Amino acid sequence: MIDLHCHSHYSDGALSPKELLQKALAQQITCLSLTDHDTIAGYPELHEAALNKPIRIIQGIEFSTLWKKYEIHLLGYQFVPNEAFYELIERQNTARIERAQKIGAALGLSGVKEAYDKACEIAGHKRVGRPHFACVLVNEGKTRDMQSAFKQFLGRGKSAYVPTSWVSLEEAVSVINQAGGQAVIAHPLKYGLTRTKLHELIKDFKDAGGIGIEVVSGGMTLLQIREMALASQRFNLRASSGSDYHSDIVSYMNLGRQQQLPVQCTPIWQHWNI
Ligand code: MN
Ligand code: MN
Ligand code: MN
Repeated sequence: MIDLHCHSHYSDGALSPKELLQKALAQQITCLSLTDHDTIAGYPELHEAALNKPIRIIQGIEFSTLWKKYEIHLLGYQFVPNEAFYELIERQNTARIERAQKIGAALGLSGVKEAYDKACEIAGHKRVGRPHFACVLVNEGKTRDMQSAFKQFLGRGKSAYVPTSWVSLEEAVSVINQAGGQAVIAHPLKYGLTRTKLHELIKDFKDAGGIGIEVVSGGMTLLQIREMALASQRFNLRASSGSDYHSDIVSYMNLGRQQQLPVQCTPIWQHWNI
């Protein structure tokens, strides 16, 4: 069993890399990639925990990127991080912080004082993001719950919505490739794109040097999987598979429990020697 998409507490997952590995072993996963958002900080711990265990660890990451006006998630595998790779991680981190500061300022205009500091306090050792601002809004009595915080303030088009200046899709693909890795479009049906737009995305991605698409992701229906399998064949892309596991509470799918990859697909791991 293989799972090439999951998160640890180094991004927005609940488990430590060590706990994630224990879970993977219990689920009889033999090949695992940790794909935290814009960080590879969980890897030393993961590699250490996997020593002498019957499991293969694949270096991975999930970059947030910008393509046209859409935020597209890009998975990178099998790279050996070089200077440009670390630089990109650093840039993404800065973009995240700057966005949070702007959200804080925007909430200040709505009468929430020191929202950024308060959100950072709630985030603790985690990177600060919109869910933490939603908590602040609830704590300050500005909204009923987290969901309405997004509806009233933080969601797209609302007063405290701030787009993040992520790296472009093309540049992220190129950085992954130059580090010897392989780029894959994550959960292609989660962006709300029309089929025409999705195909346009795939073409641009291929032109940039991308080679794979996540045909199976946790939460996808069999029909959607079949459609993405066809797309992978039509565009001659390798197919990837992952649960996108975050925690037992918020995930669609337990670690390694996503659907099987359809047999007509060419797996991304075909030449990985696993
Ligand atoms: Mn996530
Ligand atoms: Mn994602
Ligand atoms: Mn993910």
